[in-house]
Amino acid sequence: MQYDVVIVGASFSGLTLAHHLPKDLKVLIVDAKPEAGSTVESTGLITSKTRTEFSSFIPIDTYITNPISAIAVIAPGLEDMFVSTVHEPWIYQTDTKALVKALADRLPSNITLKTKTVFLGVDNADRPTQARIRSQGAEEEVVDLKFLVGADGGHSKVAQSVKGLSKNTKFLFGYEQVFFGDVLRGPKPEETIFHYWFGEFSLGYGGWLSPTIADGKKAFRIGLAKMMKDRGDAKQLTETFVKQLVDRGDIRIDGDITKPGYVFGSHIPIGGTRSRITRNNVLLIGDAAGFCGAFAADGIKGSVISGKEAAVLIPQYLRGKIDALQKLPARMNTHGGIMSYYRRQLLYRWIWGVMQRNRTFRAMWNIIAAEHATFLDQFCDSKDKHRSLAWTVLKWRHTGRLIRYAAYWICDFGKLK
Ligand SMILES: Cc1cc2nc3c(=O)[nH]c(=O)nc-3n(C[C@H](O)[C@H](O)[C@H](O)COP(=O)(O)OP(=O)(O)OC[C@H]3O[C@@H](n4cnc5c(N)ncnc54)[C@H](O)[C@@H]3O)c2cc1C
Repeated sequence: MQYDVVIVGASFSGLTLAHHLPKDLKVLIVDAKPEAGSTVESTGLITSKTRTEFSSFIPIDTYITNPISAIAVIAPGLEDMFVSTVHEPWIYQTDTKALVKALADRLPSNITLKTKTVFLGVDNADRPTQARIRSQGAEEEVVDLKFLVGADGGHSKVAQSVKGLSKNTKFLFGYEQVFFGDVLRGPKPEETIFHYWFGEFSLGYGGWLSPTIADGKKAFRIGLAKMMKDRGDAKQLTETFVKQLVDRGDIRIDGDITKPGYVFGSHIPIGGTRSRITRNNVLLIGDAAGFCGAFAADGIKGSVISGKEAAVLIPQYLRGKIDALQKLPARMNTHGGIMSYYRRQLLYRWIWGVMQRNRTFRAMWNIIAAEHATFLDQFCDSKDKHRSLAWTVLKWRHTGRLIRYAAYWICDFGKLK
Protein backbone atom coordinates (compact mmCIF):
# COMPACT_ATOMS: atom_id res chain seq x y z
CA MET A 1 0.00 0.00 0.00
CA GLN A 2 1.32 3.44 -0.90
CA TYR A 3 0.33 6.57 1.08
CA ASP A 4 1.34 10.20 0.84
CA VAL A 5 1.11 10.64 4.61
CA VAL A 6 1.06 8.04 7.39
CA ILE A 7 -0.07 9.38 10.79
CA VAL A 8 0.57 7.33 13.94
CA GLY A 9 -2.05 8.13 16.60
CA ALA A 10 -5.79 8.79 16.21
CA SER A 11 -6.36 11.18 19.07
CA PHE A 12 -6.54 14.98 19.31
CA SER A 13 -3.44 15.82 17.28
CA GLY A 14 -3.50 13.05 14.65
CA LEU A 15 -7.22 13.42 13.92
CA THR A 16 -7.00 17.22 13.70
CA LEU A 17 -4.18 16.88 11.18
CA ALA A 18 -6.16 14.32 9.19
CA HIS A 19 -9.13 16.71 8.98
CA HIS A 20 -6.98 19.51 7.60
CA LEU A 21 -4.66 17.83 5.07
CA PRO A 22 -5.58 18.56 1.43
CA LYS A 23 -8.17 16.11 0.09
CA ASP A 24 -5.97 15.06 -2.83
CA LEU A 25 -3.47 13.40 -0.48
CA LYS A 26 -3.85 9.71 0.31
CA VAL A 27 -3.55 9.40 4.07
CA LEU A 28 -3.37 6.45 6.48
CA ILE A 29 -3.89 6.91 10.20
CA VAL A 30 -3.16 4.01 12.56
CA ASP A 31 -3.95 3.59 16.23
CA ALA A 32 -3.40 0.70 18.62
CA LYS A 33 -6.76 1.18 20.36
CA PRO A 34 -9.82 -0.95 19.52
CA GLU A 35 -11.59 2.19 18.22
CA ALA A 36 -10.80 5.89 18.14
CA GLY A 37 -12.28 7.24 21.38
CA SER A 38 -12.75 3.81 22.98
CA THR A 39 -10.53 5.18 25.74
CA VAL A 40 -9.15 8.72 25.98
CA GLU A 41 -6.48 9.46 28.58
CA SER A 42 -7.52 13.03 29.30
CA THR A 43 -9.89 14.93 31.58
CA GLY A 44 -10.87 16.82 28.46
CA LEU A 45 -11.06 20.39 29.75
CA ILE A 46 -10.63 22.90 26.96
CA THR A 47 -10.24 26.68 27.10
CA SER A 48 -12.39 29.17 25.16
CA LYS A 49 -9.63 29.51 22.55
CA THR A 50 -9.43 25.74 22.11
CA ARG A 51 -13.20 25.61 21.70
CA THR A 52 -12.87 28.19 18.93
CA GLU A 53 -10.08 26.15 17.29
CA PHE A 54 -12.28 23.03 17.33
CA SER A 55 -15.37 24.89 16.12
CA SER A 56 -13.80 25.51 12.71
CA PHE A 57 -14.06 21.79 11.85
CA ILE A 58 -16.37 20.03 14.35
CA PRO A 59 -19.60 21.07 16.11
CA ILE A 60 -17.70 21.17 19.39
CA ASP A 61 -20.63 22.36 21.52
CA THR A 62 -22.33 18.99 20.95
CA TYR A 63 -19.48 17.42 22.96
CA ILE A 64 -19.36 19.95 25.79
CA THR A 65 -21.07 18.61 28.91
CA ASN A 66 -20.37 21.52 31.28
CA PRO A 67 -19.34 25.10 30.59
CA ILE A 68 -17.21 26.11 33.60
CA SER A 69 -17.36 29.69 34.90
CA ALA A 70 -15.75 29.20 38.32
CA ILE A 71 -12.67 27.73 39.94
CA ALA A 72 -12.58 26.52 43.54
CA VAL A 73 -9.12 26.16 45.02
CA ILE A 74 -8.83 24.01 48.13
CA ALA A 75 -5.91 24.36 50.52
CA PRO A 76 -3.95 21.41 51.98
CA GLY A 77 -6.16 19.74 54.58
CA LEU A 78 -9.22 20.04 52.27
CA GLU A 79 -10.94 22.46 54.68
CA ASP A 80 -10.32 25.96 53.32
CA MET A 81 -11.58 26.87 49.89
CA PHE A 82 -12.01 29.99 47.84
CA VAL A 83 -14.16 30.34 44.74
CA SER A 84 -13.39 32.74 41.93
CA THR A 85 -15.90 33.32 39.12
CA VAL A 86 -16.18 34.99 35.73
CA HIS A 87 -19.31 35.96 33.78
CA GLU A 88 -18.59 33.85 30.70
CA PRO A 89 -17.32 30.25 30.85
CA TRP A 90 -13.52 30.17 30.89
CA ILE A 91 -13.09 26.44 30.27
CA TYR A 92 -15.36 23.66 29.09
CA GLN A 93 -15.64 20.05 30.21
CA THR A 94 -15.95 17.82 27.15
CA ASP A 95 -17.19 14.28 26.69
CA THR A 96 -13.75 13.08 25.63
CA LYS A 97 -14.73 9.70 24.21
CA ALA A 98 -17.63 11.11 22.17
CA LEU A 99 -15.44 13.96 20.92
CA VAL A 100 -12.59 11.74 19.71
CA LYS A 101 -15.07 9.27 18.19
CA ALA A 102 -16.79 12.14 16.34
CA LEU A 103 -13.43 13.39 15.05
CA ALA A 104 -12.80 9.89 13.67
CA ASP A 105 -16.32 9.34 12.29
CA ARG A 106 -16.23 12.62 10.38
CA LEU A 107 -12.89 12.05 8.64
CA PRO A 108 -12.88 12.97 4.95
CA SER A 109 -12.87 10.13 2.40
CA ASN A 110 -9.17 10.52 1.51
CA ILE A 111 -8.27 9.21 4.98
CA THR A 112 -8.05 5.52 5.87
CA LEU A 113 -8.25 4.89 9.61
CA LYS A 114 -6.96 1.56 10.89
CA THR A 115 -7.50 0.92 14.58
CA LYS A 116 -6.21 -2.14 16.50
CA THR A 117 -3.06 -1.43 14.51
CA VAL A 118 0.33 -0.82 16.07
CA PHE A 119 3.13 1.14 14.46
CA LEU A 120 6.32 -0.90 14.95
CA GLY A 121 9.04 1.09 13.20
CA VAL A 122 10.48 2.25 9.90
CA ASP A 123 12.74 0.84 7.20
CA ASN A 124 15.21 3.71 7.30
CA ALA A 125 15.82 5.70 10.49
CA ASP A 126 17.14 8.67 8.54
CA ARG A 127 14.49 9.11 5.83
CA PRO A 128 11.76 6.48 6.08
CA THR A 129 10.05 5.21 2.95
CA GLN A 130 8.12 2.45 4.70
CA ALA A 131 6.38 1.97 8.04
CA ARG A 132 6.03 -1.43 9.67
CA ILE A 133 2.60 -1.96 11.21
CA ARG A 134 0.69 -4.89 12.66
CA SER A 135 -3.08 -5.13 12.97
CA GLN A 136 -4.57 -7.29 15.70
CA GLY A 137 -4.61 -10.95 14.65
CA ALA A 138 -2.71 -10.23 11.42
CA GLU A 139 0.86 -10.56 10.21
CA GLU A 140 3.23 -7.61 10.28
CA GLU A 141 2.96 -5.57 7.05
CA VAL A 142 4.76 -2.63 5.48
CA VAL A 143 3.18 0.47 3.96
CA ASP A 144 5.00 2.81 1.60
CA LEU A 145 4.92 6.47 2.58
CA LYS A 146 6.17 9.86 1.47
CA PHE A 147 5.70 11.47 4.89
CA LEU A 148 5.42 10.14 8.44
CA VAL A 149 3.80 11.92 11.40
CA GLY A 150 4.22 10.97 15.06
CA ALA A 151 0.96 11.97 16.77
CA ASP A 152 1.44 9.06 19.11
CA GLY A 153 1.64 10.75 22.50
CA GLY A 154 4.33 11.46 25.08
CA HIS A 155 6.19 8.16 24.61
CA SER A 156 6.27 8.48 20.85
CA LYS A 157 7.42 5.36 19.02
CA VAL A 158 7.98 7.52 15.93
CA ALA A 159 10.38 9.74 17.92
CA GLN A 160 12.19 6.58 19.05
CA SER A 161 12.36 5.12 15.54
CA VAL A 162 13.73 8.08 13.61
CA LYS A 163 17.29 9.30 14.08
CA GLY A 164 17.85 12.74 15.56
CA LEU A 165 14.35 13.45 16.89
CA SER A 166 14.01 14.63 20.51
CA LYS A 167 12.07 12.51 22.97
CA ASN A 168 10.14 13.62 26.04
CA THR A 169 12.09 12.83 29.18
CA LYS A 170 10.06 14.40 32.01
CA PHE A 171 6.54 13.32 32.83
CA LEU A 172 3.79 13.57 35.39
CA PHE A 173 1.65 10.53 35.93
CA GLY A 174 -2.06 11.44 35.82
CA TYR A 175 -4.68 9.08 37.23
CA GLU A 176 -8.43 9.64 37.00
CA GLN A 177 -11.66 7.92 38.03
CA VAL A 178 -15.11 8.82 36.70
CA PHE A 179 -18.16 8.28 38.92
CA PHE A 180 -21.88 8.82 38.50
CA GLY A 181 -23.22 11.10 41.22
CA ASP A 182 -23.24 14.70 42.43
CA VAL A 183 -20.74 17.31 43.48
CA LEU A 184 -22.17 19.05 46.55
CA ARG A 185 -19.57 21.69 47.47
CA GLY A 186 -19.57 25.35 46.47
CA PRO A 187 -22.29 27.68 45.13
CA LYS A 188 -22.61 26.29 41.56
CA PRO A 189 -20.86 22.91 41.52
CA GLU A 190 -21.88 22.02 37.97
CA GLU A 191 -20.10 25.11 36.65
CA THR A 192 -17.02 24.80 38.86
CA ILE A 193 -13.67 23.08 38.44
CA PHE A 194 -12.24 22.14 41.85
CA HIS A 195 -8.49 22.18 42.25
CA TYR A 196 -6.94 20.62 45.34
CA TRP A 197 -3.54 21.71 46.55
CA PHE A 198 -2.64 18.58 48.45
CA GLY A 199 0.82 19.62 49.57
CA GLU A 200 2.50 16.69 51.27
CA PHE A 201 -0.40 14.31 50.56
CA SER A 202 0.64 14.13 46.93
CA LEU A 203 3.42 16.21 45.43
CA GLY A 204 3.66 16.99 41.75
CA TYR A 205 0.43 18.61 40.65
CA GLY A 206 -2.49 18.25 43.04
CA GLY A 207 -5.97 16.89 42.52
CA TRP A 208 -9.04 17.86 40.52
CA LEU A 209 -12.75 17.32 40.57
CA SER A 210 -14.69 18.23 37.45
CA PRO A 211 -18.45 17.79 37.02
CA THR A 212 -19.62 16.18 33.80
CA ILE A 213 -22.44 14.22 32.21
CA ALA A 214 -21.85 10.60 31.22
CA ASP A 215 -24.43 8.42 29.46
CA GLY A 216 -26.97 11.21 30.07
CA LYS A 217 -26.45 11.08 33.85
CA LYS A 218 -24.74 13.45 36.29
CA ALA A 219 -21.17 12.39 36.87
CA PHE A 220 -17.79 13.76 37.85
CA ARG A 221 -14.15 13.19 37.03
CA ILE A 222 -11.78 13.00 39.98
CA GLY A 223 -8.07 12.55 39.76
CA LEU A 224 -4.56 13.57 40.61
CA ALA A 225 -1.18 13.80 38.96
CA LYS A 226 2.12 12.88 40.55
CA MET A 227 5.78 12.95 39.80
CA MET A 228 6.77 9.86 37.81
CA LYS A 229 8.93 8.40 40.57
CA ASP A 230 5.83 8.20 42.82
CA ARG A 231 3.40 6.92 40.19
CA GLY A 232 2.93 3.63 42.03
CA ASP A 233 1.02 5.53 44.75
CA ALA A 234 -1.46 7.19 42.37
CA LYS A 235 -4.27 4.61 42.59
CA GLN A 236 -4.21 4.29 46.36
CA LEU A 237 -3.95 8.07 46.86
CA THR A 238 -6.89 8.67 44.52
CA GLU A 239 -8.98 6.12 46.41
CA THR A 240 -8.13 7.84 49.70
CA PHE A 241 -8.95 11.22 48.15
CA VAL A 242 -12.34 9.98 46.88
CA LYS A 243 -13.19 8.50 50.28
CA GLN A 244 -12.24 11.75 52.05
CA LEU A 245 -14.57 13.74 49.80
CA VAL A 246 -17.42 11.27 50.34
CA ASP A 247 -16.90 11.39 54.13
CA ARG A 248 -16.84 15.21 54.07
CA GLY A 249 -20.09 15.27 52.07
CA ASP A 250 -18.42 17.04 49.13
CA ILE A 251 -19.50 14.36 46.66
CA ARG A 252 -22.22 11.71 46.51
CA ILE A 253 -21.48 8.59 44.51
CA ASP A 254 -24.30 6.60 42.88
CA GLY A 255 -23.29 2.97 43.30
CA ASP A 256 -20.14 1.36 44.58
CA ILE A 257 -17.19 3.61 45.51
CA THR A 258 -14.80 0.82 44.53
CA LYS A 259 -16.30 0.56 41.02
CA PRO A 260 -15.87 3.80 39.08
CA GLY A 261 -17.48 3.94 35.64
CA TYR A 262 -14.16 4.59 33.94
CA VAL A 263 -10.53 4.67 35.13
CA PHE A 264 -7.31 5.57 33.40
CA GLY A 265 -3.74 6.56 34.11
CA SER A 266 -1.27 8.07 31.67
CA HIS A 267 1.85 10.15 31.26
CA ILE A 268 1.86 13.91 30.78
CA PRO A 269 5.00 15.43 29.22
CA ILE A 270 6.19 18.35 31.35
CA GLY A 271 9.71 18.95 30.00
CA GLY A 272 8.59 21.64 27.56
CA THR A 273 8.46 21.66 23.77
CA ARG A 274 11.02 19.42 22.09
CA SER A 275 13.85 21.05 20.19
CA ARG A 276 14.06 18.61 17.24
CA ILE A 277 10.55 17.70 16.12
CA THR A 278 11.30 17.21 12.45
CA ARG A 279 13.84 15.36 10.35
CA ASN A 280 13.59 15.00 6.60
CA ASN A 281 10.10 13.61 5.91
CA VAL A 282 9.08 13.05 9.55
CA LEU A 283 7.27 15.39 11.97
CA LEU A 284 6.12 15.09 15.58
CA ILE A 285 2.97 16.88 16.76
CA GLY A 286 0.88 17.05 19.96
CA ASP A 287 2.30 15.41 23.09
CA ALA A 288 4.95 13.65 20.98
CA ALA A 289 6.48 17.09 20.35
CA GLY A 290 6.05 18.18 23.99
CA PHE A 291 3.26 20.65 23.10
CA CYS A 292 1.78 20.51 26.59
CA GLY A 293 1.75 23.04 29.45
CA ALA A 294 4.49 21.91 31.83
CA PHE A 295 2.61 23.34 34.82
CA ALA A 296 -1.08 23.19 33.88
CA ALA A 297 -0.65 19.84 32.04
CA ASP A 298 -2.95 21.07 29.27
CA GLY A 299 -2.11 19.56 25.91
CA ILE A 300 -5.33 19.53 23.89
CA LYS A 301 -4.87 23.07 22.60
CA GLY A 302 -1.32 22.35 21.40
CA SER A 303 -2.51 19.13 19.77
CA VAL A 304 -5.22 20.88 17.78
CA ILE A 305 -3.04 23.83 16.78
CA SER A 306 -0.05 21.67 15.81
CA GLY A 307 -2.38 19.41 13.78
CA LYS A 308 -3.86 22.38 11.92
CA GLU A 309 -0.54 24.05 11.18
CA ALA A 310 1.21 20.80 10.23
CA ALA A 311 -1.54 20.32 7.62
CA VAL A 312 -0.38 23.52 5.91
CA LEU A 313 3.35 22.74 6.06
CA ILE A 314 3.40 19.04 5.10
CA PRO A 315 1.98 19.68 1.59
CA GLN A 316 4.60 22.43 1.13
CA TYR A 317 7.32 19.93 2.06
CA LEU A 318 5.88 17.35 -0.35
CA ARG A 319 5.98 19.98 -3.11
CA GLY A 320 9.74 20.36 -2.54
CA LYS A 321 10.01 23.15 0.05
CA ILE A 322 12.27 21.14 2.30
CA ASP A 323 12.61 23.74 5.08
CA ALA A 324 8.82 24.24 5.40
CA LEU A 325 8.47 22.15 8.57
CA GLN A 326 10.91 24.32 10.52
CA LYS A 327 8.19 26.97 10.58
CA LEU A 328 5.82 24.94 12.75
CA PRO A 329 6.65 26.57 16.14
CA ALA A 330 6.45 30.10 14.69
CA ARG A 331 3.14 29.37 12.97
CA MET A 332 1.77 27.82 16.16
CA ASN A 333 2.77 30.91 18.09
CA THR A 334 0.41 33.02 15.97
CA HIS A 335 -2.40 31.21 17.83
CA GLY A 336 -2.43 33.42 20.92
CA GLY A 337 1.31 33.06 21.63
CA ILE A 338 1.09 29.39 22.57
CA MET A 339 4.86 28.77 22.37
CA SER A 340 5.50 31.71 24.73
CA TYR A 341 2.85 30.21 27.04
CA TYR A 342 4.77 26.92 27.07
CA ARG A 343 7.98 28.75 28.02
CA ARG A 344 6.28 30.49 30.96
CA GLN A 345 4.81 27.18 32.03
CA LEU A 346 8.31 25.77 32.50
CA LEU A 347 9.06 28.47 35.07
CA TYR A 348 5.83 27.78 36.98
CA ARG A 349 6.57 24.06 36.91
CA TRP A 350 9.99 24.70 38.42
CA ILE A 351 8.59 26.93 41.17
CA TRP A 352 5.82 24.42 41.99
CA GLY A 353 8.25 21.48 41.81
CA VAL A 354 10.44 22.97 44.52
CA MET A 355 7.49 23.23 46.95
CA GLN A 356 7.55 20.34 49.42
CA ARG A 357 5.63 21.21 52.57
CA ASN A 358 2.03 21.98 53.41
CA ARG A 359 3.07 25.34 54.85
CA THR A 360 4.55 26.43 51.48
CA PHE A 361 1.44 25.44 49.55
CA ARG A 362 -0.70 27.11 52.21
CA ALA A 363 1.36 30.33 52.01
CA MET A 364 0.88 30.45 48.23
CA TRP A 365 -2.81 29.66 48.62
CA ASN A 366 -3.13 32.58 51.09
CA ILE A 367 -1.81 35.01 48.47
CA ILE A 368 -4.15 33.80 45.75
CA ALA A 369 -7.12 33.57 48.13
CA ALA A 370 -6.62 37.29 48.85
CA GLU A 371 -7.01 37.87 45.09
CA HIS A 372 -9.98 35.56 44.69
CA ALA A 373 -12.43 38.25 43.52
CA THR A 374 -10.45 38.83 40.35
CA PHE A 375 -8.17 35.79 40.30
CA LEU A 376 -10.00 33.84 37.62
CA ASP A 377 -10.30 36.87 35.40
CA GLN A 378 -6.54 37.30 35.55
CA PHE A 379 -5.87 33.57 35.32
CA CYS A 380 -7.96 33.37 32.12
CA ASP A 381 -5.80 36.11 30.70
CA SER A 382 -2.67 34.15 31.39
CA LYS A 383 -4.07 30.91 29.96
CA ASP A 384 -5.47 32.23 26.72
CA LYS A 385 -3.79 35.61 26.29
CA HIS A 386 -0.20 36.78 26.60
CA ARG A 387 -0.13 37.72 30.24
CA SER A 388 2.15 36.21 32.83
CA LEU A 389 0.48 34.51 35.79
CA ALA A 390 3.07 36.14 38.05
CA TRP A 391 1.33 39.54 37.68
CA THR A 392 -1.72 38.04 39.36
CA VAL A 393 0.11 37.86 42.67
CA LEU A 394 3.10 40.24 42.47
CA LYS A 395 1.38 43.24 44.07
CA TRP A 396 2.41 45.62 46.86
CA ARG A 397 -0.57 44.68 49.00
CA HIS A 398 0.71 41.10 49.19
CA THR A 399 4.21 42.03 50.39
CA GLY A 400 3.87 40.31 53.79
CA ARG A 401 2.35 37.17 52.32
CA LEU A 402 4.93 37.09 49.54
CA ILE A 403 7.82 37.33 52.00
CA ARG A 404 6.38 34.47 54.05
CA TYR A 405 5.88 32.36 50.93
CA ALA A 406 9.37 33.17 49.64
CA ALA A 407 10.92 32.19 52.99
CA TYR A 408 9.16 28.80 52.99
CA TRP A 409 9.99 28.27 49.32
CA ILE A 410 13.68 28.96 49.97
CA CYS A 411 13.62 26.46 52.85
CA ASP A 412 12.11 23.84 50.54
CA PHE A 413 14.68 24.70 47.90
CA GLY A 414 17.54 24.35 50.36
CA LYS A 415 15.88 21.36 52.06
CA LEU A 416 15.98 23.34 55.33
CA LYS A 417 13.60 22.95 58.24
C1 LIG B 1 -4.91 12.39 33.47
C2 LIG B 1 -4.78 13.40 32.36
C3 LIG B 1 -5.62 14.49 32.31
C4 LIG B 1 -5.47 15.45 31.31
N1 LIG B 1 -6.35 16.49 31.27
C5 LIG B 1 -6.25 17.43 30.30
C6 LIG B 1 -7.20 18.48 30.21
O1 LIG B 1 -8.16 18.54 30.98
N2 LIG B 1 -7.02 19.41 29.25
C7 LIG B 1 -5.97 19.37 28.35
O2 LIG B 1 -5.84 20.27 27.52
N3 LIG B 1 -5.07 18.36 28.41
C8 LIG B 1 -5.19 17.38 29.35
N4 LIG B 1 -4.31 16.34 29.39
C9 LIG B 1 -3.28 16.26 28.35
C10 LIG B 1 -3.92 15.83 27.01
O3 LIG B 1 -4.76 14.74 27.23
C11 LIG B 1 -2.86 15.47 25.99
O4 LIG B 1 -2.00 16.58 25.84
C12 LIG B 1 -3.49 15.09 24.64
O5 LIG B 1 -4.28 13.94 24.78
C13 LIG B 1 -2.40 14.84 23.62
O6 LIG B 1 -3.01 14.44 22.42
P1 LIG B 1 -2.19 13.65 21.34
O7 LIG B 1 -3.12 13.41 20.19
O8 LIG B 1 -0.92 14.34 21.03
O9 LIG B 1 -1.76 12.27 22.03
P2 LIG B 1 -2.62 11.19 22.80
O10 LIG B 1 -3.95 11.72 23.19
O11 LIG B 1 -1.73 10.65 23.85
O12 LIG B 1 -2.88 10.06 21.69
C14 LIG B 1 -1.85 9.27 21.18
C15 LIG B 1 -2.51 8.16 20.39
O13 LIG B 1 -1.47 7.40 19.75
C16 LIG B 1 -1.76 6.03 19.89
N5 LIG B 1 -0.48 5.31 19.84
C17 LIG B 1 0.58 5.48 20.65
N6 LIG B 1 1.60 4.67 20.28
C18 LIG B 1 1.14 3.98 19.20
C19 LIG B 1 1.73 2.99 18.35
N7 LIG B 1 3.00 2.56 18.50
N8 LIG B 1 0.98 2.48 17.35
C20 LIG B 1 -0.30 2.90 17.14
N9 LIG B 1 -0.90 3.84 17.92
C21 LIG B 1 -0.18 4.38 18.92
C22 LIG B 1 -2.48 5.90 21.23
O14 LIG B 1 -3.29 4.74 21.25
C23 LIG B 1 -3.29 7.20 21.28
O15 LIG B 1 -4.60 7.03 20.77
C24 LIG B 1 -4.44 15.34 30.35
C25 LIG B 1 -3.61 14.22 30.37
C26 LIG B 1 -3.78 13.24 31.36
C27 LIG B 1 -2.88 12.05 31.36
